Amino acid sequence: MAAAGGGGEGSSRINNRVVVVGGGVAGALLAKNMQFHADVVLIDPKEYFEITWAQLRSMVEPSFAERSVINHTDYLTNGRIIASSAVNVTEAKVLTANGHSVAYDYLVIATGHADSTPRNRKDRLEQFQQDSQKIKSSRSVLIIGGGPTGVELAGEIAVDYPEKKVTLVHKGSRLLEFIGQKASKKAMDWLTSKNVKVLLGQSIDLDSISEADGVYTTSAGEKITADCHFVCVAKRLGSSWLQESVLGDSLDQKGRLLVDENLRVRGHKNIFAIGDITDVPEIKQGFLAQKHAVVVVKNLMRLIKGTGENKLATYKPSSAIAIVSLGRKEAVAQLPFTTVIGWLPGIVKSRDLFVSKTRKEMGLNPRKA
Ligand SMILES: Cc1cc2nc3c(=O)[nH]c(=O)nc-3n(C[C@H](O)[C@H](O)[C@H](O)COP(=O)(O)OP(=O)(O)OC[C@H]3O[C@@H](n4cnc5c(N)ncnc54)[C@H](O)[C@@H]3O)c2cc1C
Repeated sequence: MAAAGGGGEGSSRINNRVVVVGGGVAGALLAKNMQFHADVVLIDPKEYFEITWAQLRSMVEPSFAERSVINHTDYLTNGRIIASSAVNVTEAKVLTANGHSVAYDYLVIATGHADSTPRNRKDRLEQFQQDSQKIKSSRSVLIIGGGPTGVELAGEIAVDYPEKKVTLVHKGSRLLEFIGQKASKKAMDWLTSKNVKVLLGQSIDLDSISEADGVYTTSAGEKITADCHFVCVAKRLGSSWLQESVLGDSLDQKGRLLVDENLRVRGHKNIFAIGDITDVPEIKQGFLAQKHAVVVVKNLMRLIKGTGENKLATYKPSSAIAIVSLGRKEAVAQLPFTTVIGWLPGIVKSRDLFVSKTRKEMGLNPRKA
């Protein structure tokens, strides 16, 4: 294990310096839960944590984002925040784009997916206002991508604006390919019943896309007229910064970090990884990313106290569970042995999108920002 004194910032403290890279669903919860037990530094290019599954509602109802876009300083009151991207890591330090060199005793990598959202909360809220205006003032909308983001956005627009013409183009052979075929079919039938036109097996060239003339041509040559478009394709993993680092050999072919049952990066006793960035064989879900964080908090506490090297908590991959909301009241759920669509999964997810629950878990007022 890397001992104290890497020579970077904070090198005077020994043995309890926890550096968390990535302030998303997993990293934010871990930093919050460790802040009174260790010397915590959180590195994230954004100044805020965002409840990702509230994004699509915020695009039709921007005030919804007031509770789901949360400044890191609101929940991390006893830690240091560096608003920058990590660009490299050694056995003892993390280096950031804005020139910090941060020494660690324990490192947690939680860089899930890289996104190009604004740096501060105010601009992020403004972005939701602009998206909402764009939707409101358009008679027709094109959505590119039929994963959870595209399907949820189509559902939000179809329910709030039933008069608008919505077209969804997806290059795969079915919607929601990350869950089972039956759930895909149910989502397809639901969208069609709401007059969303779904084109499967076709794509739109993102390099030449423009809203200028309002006509889009698919890979099959089909012409779609739309006043605006939203790109909802999968984001890339946030691991490119690791490729040339000491953790380069710990990445699999997809760019995910290989972890053991204690969620330690293979071959590194003091480096953990949590959330979507890991190779844990399960659907990549925020509630599972939070479970990873809980396991690693237990392990860090034991290691810091010196009580636990042989008694570390383990993580067991979860079976397939996912809920994709379809507007404000309905949803489609993938459960281990079945799928359900309609108001029942809608009650679980669609009304509040777990925002109150997540805020509570972050130690914040669930109802008020
Ligand atoms: C539309 C949609 C709906 C969803 N619905 C649900 C749902 O209902 N329930 C559910 O459980 N899950 C849901 N998910 C999945 C969930 O959002 C992810 O599984 C979850 O966000 C993963 O958390 P994470 O912390 O691993 O990564 P992320 O939340 O992606 O966070 C990664 C963080 O790392 C930061 N980062 C990236 N690169 C760097 C770098 N080089 N240096 C420093 N920081 C970096 C990013 O800025 C970000 O803050 C949904 C996802 C989408 C897109």
